[in-house]
Amino acid sequence: MTANVSELLAKVPTQLLIGGKWVDATSGETFDVENPATGEKLATLSSANSDDAKAALDAACAVQDDWARTSARERSNILRRAFDLVHERAEDFAALMTLEMGKPIAESRGEVTYGAEYLRWFSEEAVRDYGHSATVPEGSLRMITRRKPVGPCLLITPWNFPLAMGTRKVAPAIAAGCTMVLKPAKLTPLTTQYFAQTMLDAGLPEGVLNVVSGSSASAISEPLLADARLRKVSFTGSTEVGKTLLKGAADNVLRTSMELGGNAPFIVFDDADIDQAVEGAMGAKMRNIGEACTAANRFLVHEDVAEEFTTKFAEKIAALEVGNGMDEKSTCGPLIEKKALDNITALVDDAVDKGATVVTGGKALEGKGYYYQPTVLSDVPRTARVAQEEIFGPVAPIITFKDEAEAIRIANDTEYGLASYVFTEDTNRLWRLADGLEYGLMGFNAGVISNAAAPFGGVKQSGMGREGGAEGLDEYTEVQYLALPDPYADA
Ligand code: NAD
Repeated sequence: MTANVSELLAKVPTQLLIGGKWVDATSGETFDVENPATGEKLATLSSANSDDAKAALDAACAVQDDWARTSARERSNILRRAFDLVHERAEDFAALMTLEMGKPIAESRGEVTYGAEYLRWFSEEAVRDYGHSATVPEGSLRMITRRKPVGPCLLITPWNFPLAMGTRKVAPAIAAGCTMVLKPAKLTPLTTQYFAQTMLDAGLPEGVLNVVSGSSASAISEPLLADARLRKVSFTGSTEVGKTLLKGAADNVLRTSMELGGNAPFIVFDDADIDQAVEGAMGAKMRNIGEACTAANRFLVHEDVAEEFTTKFAEKIAALEVGNGMDEKSTCGPLIEKKALDNITALVDDAVDKGATVVTGGKALEGKGYYYQPTVLSDVPRTARVAQEEIFGPVAPIITFKDEAEAIRIANDTEYGLASYVFTEDTNRLWRLADGLEYGLMGFNAGVISNAAAPFGGVKQSGMGREGGAEGLDEYTEVQYLALPDPYADA
C-alpha cells in the first residue's frame, strides 16, 4: 500500500456510528474490505449485529422529535455545508471509491460531483416543503394539508455507487426531518464511513444519522423491520433482496422506497444519428464498468443499421484501457468480486453456446483482480441469459428488430422497468415510444441521464418510489390533513 493510500485510509472511521459516537461492535467482530483491482485487504471494520442495529435505532428514535422540530433552514444549512465539505474532500472520496469499488478514478470524481449534488439539491428543496389550504366543495370545512417527517428510517445501499446511493437517501431524509440508520454494502462501506464523518463535521446533530456497517445484512435489517418504532425502509439493490425486505416491511406496514434491478433496452432506429447513438451507447453501457442499474442491458438495433452500429461501437469498446482504476489511463476497471467475474463469464459462454458471435472481447483476464474484457456480442438470441438477466458488467449484447412495434414488444418483454434509451431523429416516434415503453426512465438520444433534479425510479419489478427531484422529498414525508369548521357554514 502506498503512503498516500495509507494516509487516506487512516482518515476513515472503522467503527459503528451510534448516537454521534464511533463505537466498536458489541460482539467485537470485524470484517475486511478488499480492493477488487488487486484482491488486497484495504481495511478491517467493526461488524454490527442485531444488538448494535437496535442501539442505532434507539439513538435515532431518541432524537426524532427534536430533529423534526428544527427549522427547515437549519437542516438546509447543514446539507449545504456538507455539499461544500464533500467538494473540499473530493479527491479523498474519489480515491476511496476507486479503491473499494474499482471504477476508474475519473468516474469516481464524476460520482463525487453527482453524489454531492443530492446534498445541494435537497438543501434547496428542504425549505420548499409546501402544503396547501382550501375549503371543501360543500363549504362546511376549511382544510389544510401539511407535510410531516415520516420518522426513523432504515436506509440500505448497494456497492456500485458508494457515495451517490447514500446521499440520494440521506439528503432528503435530513431535509424532511427524519432520523435514520444507514447500512452500506459490506463490499464498499469505506466511502459511507467517511461520508458519515463528513456529515458530523458539517454539524449534523448526534443521533440523526447512525451507521451500522456489517457482514450480515439480515442481522441488521430483520430486528429493525420488526421494531414498531421504525417507520420507513428505503432500499437500493437487487430485486431479489427488495422482495425479501418488502415482505419484512409488511408486518408493520412500513413506508417503502425500492430502487431495484433493471434490464434496460437501448433502441437504435434506422433514422438515428449512428455516431450519436454510439456515443450514447458508450455512456449507457460502460459507465461504472457496466455495473449500474441503468446500464444498457440489451441493444435493440434496426436490422438496416445493425452492421454500421455494431462495427463503430465495437471499435470504441475495443479501444478501452482495462486496468486498475487508480491509474489515470484506465477507462475500464475490475468487476467488484470473483462471483461477479464468474457470473459474467457464464453469461457470455451461454450466449455463445446459443449462437451469439463475439465481435470483441469475450474473456476474463488472467492475474490479480477481477477483470473482464469489454465485450460486444452480435446475433444474440432472445433466449440467451444475457438478454433476460441483469448483466452488471462490460458486456453489450446486440439484438436486431424489423419495425417499431417489434422493438417495443422486445423492450417490454421483461419483468424489469427502470431505464430505457431510444435513439431516433423522429420526434413523433419519441412520443409513441414514451407511451409504449413500460419504463420509469427514458433517455431520448441521451445515454447518461441520472441527475439530482430528476425523479429516479422504476416500474414493474424495478421498484417503487422515486429518488431525486421534488418527488425524492415526498418519500420521507407523510401528508396530514387538518379540518376546521368553516366560520360561515351555519350562517
Ligand atoms: P444486493 O441486493 O445484493 O445488496 C444491496 C444491499 O442490500 C447491500 O447493502 C446488502 O448488504 C443488503 N442486503 C443483502 N441482503 C439483505 C437482506 N437479506 N436484508 C437486508 N439487506 C440486505 O445488491 P448489490 O449487489 O449491492 O447491488 C446491485 C443491485 O442493485 C443491482 O440489481 C442493481 O440494479 C441494483 N441497483 C439499483 C439501483 C436503482 O436505483 N434502481 C441503483 C443501484 C443499484
